[in-house]
Amino acid sequence: MRASTYPLIDAVEAHDLVLRSTPVLPVEEVALADAAGRVLAEPLLAGHALPAWPSSAVDGYALRAAEAGRRLRVVGESAAGHPFQGRLEPGTAARVLTGGVVPEGADAVAMVEDVTVEGDWVSAPSGLGRGANFHPRGADARAGEKVLEAGLPLGAAEVGLAAALGMARLRVHRRPRVALLSTGDELVEVGEEPGLGQVVDSNRWALLAALAEAGAEVRQHGIAPDQPDALRGLVESALAEAEVLVTSGGVSVGTHDLVKPLLESLGEVHVGRVKLRPGKPFTFATLPGGRLAFGLPGFPVSSLITFEVFVRPALRKLQGFERLERPTLPVRLGYDARAAGDRTEYQRVTLSREGPELVARSTGSQSSSRLLSLAGAHALVRIPPGDEGIAKGSRVEAIILTLP
Ligand code: AMP
Ligand code: MG
Repeated sequence: MRASTYPLIDAVEAHDLVLRSTPVLPVEEVALADAAGRVLAEPLLAGHALPAWPSSAVDGYALRAAEAGRRLRVVGESAAGHPFQGRLEPGTAARVLTGGVVPEGADAVAMVEDVTVEGDWVSAPSGLGRGANFHPRGADARAGEKVLEAGLPLGAAEVGLAAALGMARLRVHRRPRVALLSTGDELVEVGEEPGLGQVVDSNRWALLAALAEAGAEVRQHGIAPDQPDALRGLVESALAEAEVLVTSGGVSVGTHDLVKPLLESLGEVHVGRVKLRPGKPFTFATLPGGRLAFGLPGFPVSSLITFEVFVRPALRKLQGFERLERPTLPVRLGYDARAAGDRTEYQRVTLSREGPELVARSTGSQSSSRLLSLAGAHALVRIPPGDEGIAKGSRVEAIILTLP
């Protein structure tokens, strides 16, 4: 073993350094089916008015509001997809169905429940206001109006709006292509029976899930042995088709820890150790061509926490998101929290609603190898180093992973 030569840097500083080195990926055009979860790269302008014609909100009769109270002759019908042809003359009304065009000349729709019909004649209650019961042309958007800002994440409603405006394709930021591999001679594939001293490669599947949730397109490159040439070969071929490399294991100070020297030979290592628990050996490098490399520690919780703190925000920046971080909420600590050691500890907690408050409770042993400390956790709370810790009952800001 040799001592690490990398300075132990503050987690906030490391986080800022990662984000400063992270570009925003170029724009591509995608079909609507691939648009959800992406970030709009250009403002969305309405190519036509929405609705494109006055559309009835109810089943009833289209008429002139000023003629409400009079007997009007029913001259035709306007159903969805079957508009009334022509203009509505004074003294007349047209039957309209929900989603039907309100004919030219009419300025209100009386609900069918409110009218009196006698043969071809209808009378609506007087006092019906102009504009009643229909959506005028352009009520949602005028032609040329900006309906969505650039930088907006696209969800179901945004995709629906684009479709309603006739846009079958949208310009969005590209998703990052991520090469994922695990390192370690002790690792075996999931499903294989681990022998003495062997460990199932669980990090790859945990990180695959985390990467997918963060919007990455992932290509898996299996398990690299603790052998410099084999590792280099695998990493070089993995990088041929990716702008981000994510590895786990092989970043601490043992003689088998080969990732840092490899990244040094391929690019520039900016972070080699952080004041963070779990996750001290987290490594970040930039590689030629604006590519990024994240060497995550091997212990399962360490790899996921450093993913949360450093990799996820970077992946979101690459995709053009403006909000890079998880939301936070004030919570009441339901236990006496103390950081084990001299680094800020990201403790895993569950949350429960107690009256108006959220109360955070520890998930138990915070060992960096105990995935059960993170499985089912709702949030992370940052506990600063030092003997005082944070007393039970204190209010802290929790990083929300999922709400209970
Ligand atoms: P390392 O950072 O390579 O020293 O790994 C530290 C420890 O993390 C190893 O001894 C393993 O027990 C565990 N570990 C490393 N890689 C993985 C992996 N891919 N999946 C599960 N556990 C791992
Ligand atoms: Mg290892």
